[in-house]
Amino acid sequence: MEAAPKVLVVEDEAAIAELIATSLRHQGFAPALARDAVEARRALQADLPDVVLLDWMLPGESGESFLRRLRAEPTTRELPIVMLTARSEEADKLAGFEGGADDYITKPFSPAELAARLRAVLRRRQGSAVAMQVLQLGRLQLDTDTHRVSHDGQRIHLGPTEFRLLSHLMRQPERVHSRASLLSHVWGDQSFVEDRTVDVHIKRLRAALGPAASMVETVRGAGYRLCKPHGGGA
Ligand code: CA
Repeated sequence: MEAAPKVLVVEDEAAIAELIATSLRHQGFAPALARDAVEARRALQADLPDVVLLDWMLPGESGESFLRRLRAEPTTRELPIVMLTARSEEADKLAGFEGGADDYITKPFSPAELAARLRAVLRRRQGSAVAMQVLQLGRLQLDTDTHRVSHDGQRIHLGPTEFRLLSHLMRQPERVHSRASLLSHVWGDQSFVEDRTVDVHIKRLRAALGPAASMVETVRGAGYRLCKPHGGGA
């Protein structure tokens, strides 16, 4: 029997935290609780979980700020993080993605939805560890083992979702991928994710790619594709 995936729940409201922990236990997860960023940091140092469920509104350091710091550190850079938000404003969700969250979930949510989201995030991480190889297109190079991406020898830093997105596109260059297809291959479980999520991450991927941004083409009415740069340029 597989070990229960460890989930660090960072939530200051005790009643909600307990409710989440109870439902996660029922769904086969092993939850641990932290009330704020300070406790969460301590918990992460003691025992790295498989996934973090991070509340947006925390006393002291905000969830968003904590997320950015976790993404800046080598030990937690690749750690799957799902943001928990009480508000459903689009701006919050987008900021969550900008900060490198793998997904977000809006309160109130059902235990089944929470479990499905966490499983999808964990599946994606396991999937990305399967095939180790270096992918190359033009001067763009992606190492699926070390997670290093470079263009013309210059290191490119990507968030976890952008990395999965780019590696999927690089495996099938020149091919047009619909948003639905990208959702199912890159996000795994498309039932809770909106099409617009793809656009947000494509935009972020282009920004990170810098001089190679034009390799990610929008095909109107169809989706996206990754192409070799035109002409003799990049
Ligand atoms: Ca809170």
